[in-house]
Amino acid sequence: MKIKRYLWIAILTITALLGIILPGKTQQHPLSKTLFQTSTISALSIGIYEGNTNFRQLKKYGNFGLGTVNYLDGEMIGLDGKFYQVKADGVASVIPDSMTSPFATVTFFKPQILINLGGQINYQQLQELLDQHLPTKNYPYAIRIQGNFPYLKFRSVPKQTPPYRPLAEVVKEQSIFELRNVNGTLVGFRTPKYMQGINLNGYHFHFITVNRKTGGHILDGQFQNAKVELDTLSKVEINLPTTAEFDQADLGDVNLLKSTELNRN
Ligand code: ZN
Repeated sequence: MKIKRYLWIAILTITALLGIILPGKTQQHPLSKTLFQTSTISALSIGIYEGNTNFRQLKKYGNFGLGTVNYLDGEMIGLDGKFYQVKADGVASVIPDSMTSPFATVTFFKPQILINLGGQINYQQLQELLDQHLPTKNYPYAIRIQGNFPYLKFRSVPKQTPPYRPLAEVVKEQSIFELRNVNGTLVGFRTPKYMQGINLNGYHFHFITVNRKTGGHILDGQFQNAKVELDTLSKVEINLPTTAEFDQADLGDVNLLKSTELNRN
């Protein structure tokens, strides 16, 4: 009888402890954040440039992100709940909620990891160093780097009209901008290699100045004592276009650009 009583006490104690520990752990678990994207990089690569999701909808899935807008009319940057378009002339403006996007990646940014990269490094080194510091390469990350940058080189793309040409053709006509000693924020994502075809492989950064006047897709840069904030994302949600264009596209064997090729200038 005594043994039975002790057994019951032990069982009740363990149950109580699990009850306290497990829900706490679940609540604190960082891996419950969603990367939401509209369309895929494969579709954008072959020239599906007409938007399928508007920014009113996108804002329900994130306050932070990057991509492009309807007709590939420039680069898109989302920061602190505001979304900006930077046209090929390099001028940034706030995007109206009714505007659509043919490719965007967003999340509600809440960084859990801070990586300090000391000294002065270039964009290639930034990516290599981040790869070395990541806890794992198997989840997507949202990435924010804010501060003063010794040098940034970024681009924007011109608005397209039908018949649409592949992205590899269009980026040959990109406008390139260079700024030195500039204050602003880099908004970025890193997706795992297994997401190739869905999102841009590896690192992808867009930039906006602190006065929100200009920005674009990052091609190169110099980073001084960069403080890199990371948000690990464990859910991926994709809003596929429901257009005839997407319906009839041959997405079976798309020749994807590597991120370095997309960055070629
Ligand atoms: Zn980009």
